[in-house]
Formats: sequence, structure tokens, C-alpha cells
Amino acid sequence: MIQKSIIFKFLTRVGLGVLLFTAVSSVGGHAASDVLGVRFGQIDGTTRFVIDLSEDTRPAVFQLADPYRIVIDLPAVDWRGTDSVQPFGLVNGFRHGRFTGDTYRIVLDLKGPAIVSNAFSLPAGNGRSPRYVIDIKPSSRADFLAAVASSKSQRSRYTAKVEKAPAVSNSRRKDGKHIIVLDPGHGGIDPGNLGTIGVHEKVITLKIARAIRDELNKTGRYEVHLTRDRDIFHKVRERFRIARRHNADLFISIHADSIKNPRIRGGSVYNLSETASDKEAERLAARENKSDVIAGVNLDVVEDEVSGILIDLAQRETMNYSAQFAELLVREMGGKIPMLERAHRYANLGVLKAPDVPSVLLEAGYLTNRSNARFLNSKKGQLLIAQSARRAIDRYFTTIVAQGR
Ligand SMILES: [Zn+2]
Repeated sequence: MIQKSIIFKFLTRVGLGVLLFTAVSSVGGHAASDVLGVRFGQIDGTTRFVIDLSEDTRPAVFQLADPYRIVIDLPAVDWRGTDSVQPFGLVNGFRHGRFTGDTYRIVLDLKGPAIVSNAFSLPAGNGRSPRYVIDIKPSSRADFLAAVASSKSQRSRYTAKVEKAPAVSNSRRKDGKHIIVLDPGHGGIDPGNLGTIGVHEKVITLKIARAIRDELNKTGRYEVHLTRDRDIFHKVRERFRIARRHNADLFISIHADSIKNPRIRGGSVYNLSETASDKEAERLAARENKSDVIAGVNLDVVEDEVSGILIDLAQRETMNYSAQFAELLVREMGGKIPMLERAHRYANLGVLKAPDVPSVLLEAGYLTNRSNARFLNSKKGQLLIAQSARRAIDRYFTTIVAQGR
């Protein structure tokens, strides 16, 4: 198939440095495409990023500030490239992964302000597959911010459809089952931390969540939902929204931590607090809240909801229940799985901000400690965590909740 060699192109408006998006071709009806590889190059002051594709594919390209990023969204492609490509020139690092069911996202982290000076596709030819080329040149912060604004229309090109959990009715279940929503941390383009055994946090959190789900399902007392049951990204706030849509009685976000000191091991359970219980809790909150930034989510549209939610936190009852469940979980895990000494902690974690669903965040252990990472990645470790969680959940509903009503 012969395509125009330049499908679309960013032009720099003389004097203003504003990026104009021109010659937008129609979107949709894309053939399934694979990313065969990516490359970096440098020509004079310009850094070139090339994506080798199996089919001619036109990505949506836009920029995000603070930190400086270029985001490239492709329709749901498969990644067949290697991960050993080193960033280059103006680019500090890059990540890629599934963003939604329809979107595959590549994020380039820039060393400083730099703008897309040219972006175009090259058709297959001379034994080469189709390519998409993005040229990046240094800019002032003002020009960068202008590029953020002018490329905004690209943001929703493939990502308009955010994955929604199925709508559920507002009535409590008639069969008397308690509704538990488990939230495997990270996913898709946000892999979480990579510990010493080379398995990403997002893989381990999903395994643990599935183990807890299976353990709870065996009892017949619970209806269990996962915020994700595959390798996909969710915004932080979307995670607790899923819990609210399911009318959850309890929400457990599951993570695995990392730290410089490889000797430190053990799990911990977090509750929400606007003031962290210690420096480490504060650093942890910074790490875990970063997920949206990693994924290139548009953070300059801060929803008012956040402040609303903080006000709703006056709903002490939810926090009270959350804290009581955290205590039970710490107690049930103790002795069965490695735990930190002070295992119940507080931090300002975005994922715990559902005002009406008791919520905890389980940091199941440290992936930076070899034996701890192996434990978390093992069937046995996952089962021990799942059994502890089941016992804690049983106790929570038979004692705490039952007494409170
Ligand atoms: Zn995490």
C-alpha cells in the first residue's frame, strides 16, 4: 500500500514557537500493528526517535509538563521490540506499555524543555518496515508549555475510552455477601518497581490479588472484584472509583515496596492520612502516587474532586473502619509472612481516598530484598498472604462490622 510519505507533521510557527497540528488524517479503522523496535539518533542538536512498525500507523503525539515529557499513543499494538534500547540525546528515559484496552503508550522523559519539531511516518520500502519518526529539539520552558497547550487535542485521540468497570446497582447484594475489591498495584505502562529478582511489581501484585480472590471465593461469603485482572494501567483515582461503583465493603490495594538497603524486608499495611507517620511513609506515598506521572496522565487537569474528597475524610467512620481492618491484617500476617516491626502505618496515598469505602494499602514486602522478593513471587508466599488476608477479612466482618451495626 502506498501512503503519502508524510502523514502529519508538526510545524513551528515562526516567532511564536507554537506547534501547529496539521493535516490530520482520519483516525480509526487501523490495521492491527506491532511495534518491531524503537531507536534513538542524534543529528546536530536534534534527537530523533524512530518507531519501527509492522503496519503504517499514525500515533497521537502530545507533550506534558512537570516533568517534561512527550507521550506517544498508538492504537492497541503488540510490543515486539527489545527493552535494551538506551535513551539518548535530549531523552532521559522511556517507558511503554498498555494504557487502556485501545491504547499502547510510549512516554519519553526529557532532560529539559524540548519540543517535537517534526513528526512523520515513512512507508515501507527498500526492505524496511514502516516507521514513525519524531524529531525533538531543545526549547525554552515557555515554548514547551505552548507545545503542551497546542498538542492537547491529541490527548484524547486513542484514550477517550477509559476502561470502566461494569455498572452495578446501588442496592446491597441480597445474598448477604460482602463485596471486596482488590486492587493489584501498577500495571500496563506503569510497571512499579523492579526488585532484585527481575520481576516487576505489577506482575507480583496481580499474582497476590488473584491468590486472595481465590482464597475468598472458596468461603462462599464474599463477592470479589479486581480493579484489573490483566496487565493494564488505571489512573490512581480510577482504582477507588471502581471500588465505589461496586459498592465495595472493603478495598485493598496491593503493592510491593523497594528501598536502597537490600537487607530490609517485611510487609506493612497503610491507612490514609494527610500527614505521614514517618519519613519513610512519606517517601512511599511519593513513590506510589507517582503512577499517573509515569503513565503520562494529564495531571494539569486536577479535578476538584480531590479537595472534595479530603473534606469528606471528615467521615471519621470510614477511616476508623480502615484502621481497624489494617490492625487485623497486620495481626493475621504476623508470624506467617515477614513483616516490618512497626507494620501499621499512615501516608497520604491517593488510592485510599474513597470517602465511603474502608480502604487499606498492603505493601506485601520488599522486592529489593532477595528472599523477600522470592517469597512474594512464590505460590507458597502468595497463598500465605491470601490465607492471612482471608482470616483478617473474616474477623473484620464478624467482629468489627457486626458490632458497629
Ligand atoms: Zn507500588
